[in-house]
Amino acid sequence: MAEFEYIRWVRERVRSSDRVRVGIGDDCAILDVPDPRVLVTTDMLMDGVHFVLADAGPRRVGRKALAVNLSDIASMGGRPLAAVVSVALPRRGTQQLAEELLRGMETLAEEFACPLIGGDTNTWNGPLVLSLTVLGEPGPCGPILRSGAKPGDWLLVTGSLGGSLAGKHLDFTPRVREALELQKHCTPRAMIDLSDGLAGDVGHLCDESHCGAILAADAIPIDAAVQADRQTPLEHALRDGEDFELAIAVAPEDGNRLMREQPLPGVRLTRVGDFRAELGLWLDEGGKRRRLEPRGYEHPFEET
Ligand code: ADP
Ligand code: MG
Repeated sequence: MAEFEYIRWVRERVRSSDRVRVGIGDDCAILDVPDPRVLVTTDMLMDGVHFVLADAGPRRVGRKALAVNLSDIASMGGRPLAAVVSVALPRRGTQQLAEELLRGMETLAEEFACPLIGGDTNTWNGPLVLSLTVLGEPGPCGPILRSGAKPGDWLLVTGSLGGSLAGKHLDFTPRVREALELQKHCTPRAMIDLSDGLAGDVGHLCDESHCGAILAADAIPIDAAVQADRQTPLEHALRDGEDFELAIAVAPEDGNRLMREQPLPGVRLTRVGDFRAELGLWLDEGGKRRRLEPRGYEHPFEET
């Protein structure tokens, strides 16, 4: 099997949707968009950096590549429309790898009604690299940006945090449904998905919203996967990253109601802190406040 046979195989397998005028097979796909504001997000995943192919296996890698993009659509409160994928495949075991990647993607693509409408297939003597782009439409509250939090707003998170390396980072469910459901119960002011760790990502919300935040140590929901080691469970929850939960800023009256009603089926909403006018990120531990570095994982750039 070579490139074109593989593309034929993919083309026969994938499901379409009524938004897709032209899918795989022409030079461009054609999509009917319901809203002129198209959400566009892309993420590249590289063997040895974002996953270890030999450990994770190609299905989980394919699934994750789509899931991280769907998580970005969720963080804007959007609904996925379609995906395109570019792959650089290593020259050995290429066919099986390419097929398994697609199988990993397709289950999630169907679950979230996000058809694969195109891509690019390459081989080389390097490790697996894949890049996915997902297009989406805004949800009922319009696109929810990082920049809308106001002093006094409550900071909520979905689910539990930390310990993602134990497996969640590969197998998580992007919070697309939850973000849409949430908009039936309130108007979120700002939202982000937790990819860099709570401290880092709340730092991004604060930067874009020009405000600060204070987190309540006791309130932070720590995932059962967190192992006690040199770092405390709380530090894991603040810094591990790849939780792919949502951090949400809501007005206090909305927060109050959401805490009471818990409107998201099977997913708990927890108030973990508050936004405030004073800049900076703080942690309150039983009344004692200390400054938190608003830092998560960052890919290093080198000079030479
Ligand atoms: P072109 O050379 O015009 O870019 P290609 O031969 O790269 O065309 O691709 C042919 C068709 O197959 C296009 O519709 C493209 O989007 C699709 N395609 C290529 N690779 C993939 C892939 N890995 N997954 C899904 N669609 C793909
Ligand atoms: Mg091409």
